[in-house]
Amino acid sequence: MGKVYLTGAGPGDIDLLTVKALRVVREADVIIYDRLANPDILAEAKNGCEFIYVGKEDSHHTLPQEEINEEIYQAALKYDTVVRLKGGDPFVFGRGGEEGIYLYERGVTFEFIPGVTSAIAVPEYAGIPVTHRGITVSFRVVTGHESTNKSHSQIPWENYKTDDTIIFLMGLHRLKVITQKLMEIGKPKNYPIAVISRGTRPDEKTVVGTLEDIYEKAKDLPTPALIVVGEVVRLREQLSWFETP
Ligand code: SAH
Repeated sequence: MGKVYLTGAGPGDIDLLTVKALRVVREADVIIYDRLANPDILAEAKNGCEFIYVGKEDSHHTLPQEEINEEIYQAALKYDTVVRLKGGDPFVFGRGGEEGIYLYERGVTFEFIPGVTSAIAVPEYAGIPVTHRGITVSFRVVTGHESTNKSHSQIPWENYKTDDTIIFLMGLHRLKVITQKLMEIGKPKNYPIAVISRGTRPDEKTVVGTLEDIYEKAKDLPTPALIVVGEVVRLREQLSWFETP
């Protein structure tokens, strides 16, 4: 039986891959990868390495998670070194825990390799610090995607009345609802918000606005995209460095 490395691929820029992730990618006999993992990473694999694409879309999964789990398990039965390459960090809305439990239950050895999460790195490439002394002392990372068969919201909106920076992943298609909810709990209409599309990639694009106008400005941006809410968004005026205007 082989060993599985549940590996974070980082947010997009291939240079944000960790040294440890690069090492296992080079040793891998098979790499099972997501849509959000930069495919250029596969060029680092050794000759003869097999690639299995289990492309997950933003809000729907092209392969059900159960099938992905089984795919990883089958690969572990067949190969010595299995790399499961996932966008960002495996534990940040990455279902890395579920994959690990599936392997644990079948007696497969595994390791987690943390990745640079888009939740922090993408705002950073946009010049938006998730915390900043004197502005905010904490940040939250929230899923903007909720299962559509639930009649009421599972997100505890009342908790978001504080000045925490809020980072919504998987939320672009729900941008209108998110901004409405934040205004309903009392955030001002002109509260700063940014949408960052294809962060850390050459075509990264950030759109800054207010809770009231961001939907019209940003709704058509290409995915993947994340949403940052908070006064820290204003710091982009001084800290923007990656995107050319
Ligand atoms: N495990 C990943 C997140 C998986 S959820 C991580 O740690 O980064 C997928 C969501 O992450 C997307 O819907 C989007 O909101 C965000 N995301 C991932 N890569 C991104 C990128 N390069 N730019 C903007 N958002 C990104």
